[in-house]
Amino acid sequence: MSKSVARYFDTMDYGPAPESDTDARQWLSRHAQGFGHFIDGRFTGADSGAHFETVEPATGLLLARIAQGSPADIDTAVTAARAAQPGWMAVGGHARARHLYALARTVQRHARLLAVVEALDNGKPIRETRDIDVPLVARHFYHHAGWAQLQEREFADQVPLGVIGQIVPWNFPLLMLAWKIAPALALGNTVVLKPAELTPLSALLFAELAAQAGLPAGVLNVVTGDGATGAALVAHEGVDKIAFTGSTEVGRLIREATAGSGKSLTLELGGKSPFIVFDDADIDAAVEGVVDSIWLNQGQVCCAGSRLLLQEGIAADFIERLKRRMQQLRVGMPLDKAIDLGSLIDGSQLDRVRSLVATGVREGAQCYQPSCALPTGGSFYPPTLLTGVQPASTVATEEIFGPVLVTMTFRTPDEAVALANNTRYGLAASIWSETIGLALGIAPQLQAGVVWINATNLFDAGVGFGGCRESGYGREGGREGCHEYLKPHAWAARKPRAAQAAPGATGETARAPVTSSTLPAIDRTAKLFIGGKQVRPDGELSHAVFSVSGQRFGEVGTGNRKDIRNAVAAARAADGWSSATPHRRAQALYYLAENLSTRADEFAARLVRFTEVAAGSARAEVDAAVSRLFAYGAWADKYEGTVHVPPLRGVALATVEPIGVVGVVCPDEAPLLSFVSLLAPLLAMGNRTVIVPSESHPLIATDFYQVLETSDLPGGVVNIVTGPAESLMQTLARHDDVDALWVFGAASLSRDAERLSVGNLKRTLVDHGLATDWQDGAAAEGAPFLRHATQVKNIWIPYGE
Ligand code: NDP
Repeated sequence: MSKSVARYFDTMDYGPAPESDTDARQWLSRHAQGFGHFIDGRFTGADSGAHFETVEPATGLLLARIAQGSPADIDTAVTAARAAQPGWMAVGGHARARHLYALARTVQRHARLLAVVEALDNGKPIRETRDIDVPLVARHFYHHAGWAQLQEREFADQVPLGVIGQIVPWNFPLLMLAWKIAPALALGNTVVLKPAELTPLSALLFAELAAQAGLPAGVLNVVTGDGATGAALVAHEGVDKIAFTGSTEVGRLIREATAGSGKSLTLELGGKSPFIVFDDADIDAAVEGVVDSIWLNQGQVCCAGSRLLLQEGIAADFIERLKRRMQQLRVGMPLDKAIDLGSLIDGSQLDRVRSLVATGVREGAQCYQPSCALPTGGSFYPPTLLTGVQPASTVATEEIFGPVLVTMTFRTPDEAVALANNTRYGLAASIWSETIGLALGIAPQLQAGVVWINATNLFDAGVGFGGCRESGYGREGGREGCHEYLKPHAWAARKPRAAQAAPGATGETARAPVTSSTLPAIDRTAKLFIGGKQVRPDGELSHAVFSVSGQRFGEVGTGNRKDIRNAVAAARAADGWSSATPHRRAQALYYLAENLSTRADEFAARLVRFTEVAAGSARAEVDAAVSRLFAYGAWADKYEGTVHVPPLRGVALATVEPIGVVGVVCPDEAPLLSFVSLLAPLLAMGNRTVIVPSESHPLIATDFYQVLETSDLPGGVVNIVTGPAESLMQTLARHDDVDALWVFGAASLSRDAERLSVGNLKRTLVDHGLATDWQDGAAAEGAPFLRHATQVKNIWIPYGE
C-alpha cells in the first residue's frame, strides 16, 4: 500500500486546485455600476465624474469601473477627515482600541473574500494572499489596537499629527493599507488613502467592511485614482503628513512637493536587497530561502532578495541545486492553490522585466529559466536566474521588480559586506550561515533597515520595517512606527520665531562688565575646526562679527563648499566613533560637560557681550548647556534597542544605530545652548557631525574648540564650519555623503533643506521657522532628538532545529 502511495507521488500529474471566486464575483456585481470614492462613511455616487477600469492581470478581463479622483474629491475627503479628527481623538485610547479590534475581527471574518479579491485584482497566488497578506493585515490591526489602548500612558507627551494622506502601491495593496492606516488611526489621526490605480479593489472592500464594523464616518476615506490624484493629495494644505510606499522616483517628487510645507513625511521606497550565503550555510534551506525571497509575489517586493551573493567555494553547487529547485516552480492562475507564481501586475511591468533581462544578457550575463509552461492571456513571466553578473551592470544595480535573481560571488566576509552595501538602496538583507557569531557580526555592517538571519521576508506588526539611503526613511510597525504618527506636545506648541533673536529678552538690564580678559586678542580670527584641528578656511576669507547692538568683536573664518567637503570627509573617516561603546560615548560627553563647566564664567561673559543678554540669562544658558551635555551622557548608554518576540520560534533584535554623518545648521537664539542641544544627541548616539553654528554669534562655537580640544573626542567627530548659513546648508543638503540634515532657523532654510535633500534622500529634522525654547527640556532635549539621531535595524533570528 505505502509503496503504491509513494509511486503516486512520482507519477501523479499536477492538476489545478482553484479557489472559488463566487463571493468575490457577487460583491463585484453588487458594484457593477461602478465604484465611487469612500468619503465620510459612504460611497460617493459613481457617476459623478471620470472613471477608469481595473482588470485581472492574469486574464486581462474587466473587474470593475473605478472613479478617477479629482482635486475636488481630495478636498472633500480631506475636509471630512479634518472634521472627524478631533472627535476621533477625543473618544480616547480605549474606544479606538475597540474600533481597531473590530477591524481585526472583520478582516478575519472576511478573510477568504479579501484574499480572493486581492488575488484577482493583483494577479498574485491565492496561497500568498490567504496565508501571508490577510493574516498579517489582521495581526496589524490587533497589534495597533494595543497601542491605542496604551497611548495615553506610553505616549503621554505626544499628540497625533492630524490628517494623514497615505499613498500605497499595487504590489501589496491590502497589506500596505493596513501598515499605513492601523497606526495612524490607533493614535488618533484620520486618514485619506489613495490606493494604486491598478489595484483599488481591496481598499474599497475594506472601507465598506470598516463602515459595517462601525468605524465612525470621516475617520477613513478612500479616494481612488492615478498618480495625479496622489499628487493632489500631496499638495493639499489640509494634510499634516504624507506616508508613501512606492518607487524611489515618485518618493523624490513627493519630497520636493512637500518641502517647506510643514508636512511630515515617511517614504518606503525601492530596494536591491542582498541575499548572502556563506560556505557554512545549510544549503538546501538557503535554496528554499531564495525561493521565498525572490519569487514571492513574482518578485514584485520592495525587500526582495534580488542579489544572490554566494561564497565562492559553494557557488557552483548552490546554483546547480537552485536550478533544480526552479524546475519545480509552477507559474499559473492566481486562484489556483497549487501554484508558486502568478501574473505580473500588467503588460508594462512585463515589458520592463523583459527589457531589463535582455539588457543583462547584452551586458554579459547568462540567463537561466526553467522549462515551465506559462498560462496565456495575462502578464506571466518565468522565474529567472542571471549568472555571470558584474557588480556594476544594470541588472545588479537597478530594481527589476520582477521574478529575476542576479548572482555574484565573494571570498571573504569583508568582501561580502562591501558587495552587499554596493547599492544606493538600504532596505533589507538576508544572511545565511550556521555560525551565529559570523552572522551577527555581519548584520550591523549592512546598510539595511531589516536583516534576516537564516530566513527571509519575515514580517510582523510589532517589528518595525523600513529602510535607509534611497530606500527612504521612517518605520512601519512597532513602537518606532507609532512615533511616525505622533509629535511631541512641546513641538506642536511652538510659534514662529521672531525675525531676529531679541537682545535682553528676559527684560533684565544688568550687563556683565566688559573687561580686557573677556575681549578677544586684537588680531585673532577664529578658524574652522575640521578633523580635530583648527584650520584656515579654504578661501582664506573671514568676516567681522558684531554684537546685537553692532559692536565689532573680531573676525571669523568664512567657510565655503570646499570646507564643507573637507569637513564631511573628516567626519566620514571618523567611523570609529559610530562603533565606540555607549559607555565610551557617555564618558566623552560627561568630559565635555566638565570642561565647559570649569569655564562657565568665561562663556557666560562672552555670551553677554555677543548677544547682550543679561548676565543672569547668560549664566543660565551656560548652566543649561552643561546640564544638557550631562543629560546626553546619561542617555548614551540608556537609549537602546529591544528584543521582540514575533510569532515565530525566534527573536527580532531591534538595534539602535547611528545614522552616520549628520549636517547641522544652528539657529541664532541661545547660540551656545542651541549648539550644544543639537550636537550632544548626535554624539551620544554615535554620529559624526558637521556643524554650522549660529551665523550671527559664531564666536561662542569657536570658543568651544578649546573645550573640544581638551576632551577626548576623536578628531573628525565634530567639525565646525562658520559662515553663511544658507549657502553652507545648501552644500550640506546636496552632499551625497551626508546622511541626515538638521536645520533650525528661518523657515526658508527649512524649506530649502527639505527640497535639496532629495539627491540621496537624506533624513531631515527641521523646525520650519518655529522657535524652540532651548531652556525647556520637554521641547529641546531627550527622546525626540534621540529618535532623529538614530535608525532602528531589526535583526530577525529564528532558532531551533
Ligand atoms: P509608483 O511609485 O508610481 O506608485 C506608487 C503610488 O504612488 C501609486 O498609488 C501611484 O498612483 C502613486 N503616485 C504616482 N505618481 C504620484 C505622484 N506624482 N504623486 C503622488 N502619488 C503618485 O510606482 P508604480 O506603481 O508606477 O511602479 C513603478 C516602479 O516602482 C516599479 O516598477 C517598481 O520598480 C517600483 N515600485 C516599488 C515599490 C516598493 O514597494 N518599493 C512598490 C511599487 C512599485 P498610480 O498607481 O495611479 O500610479
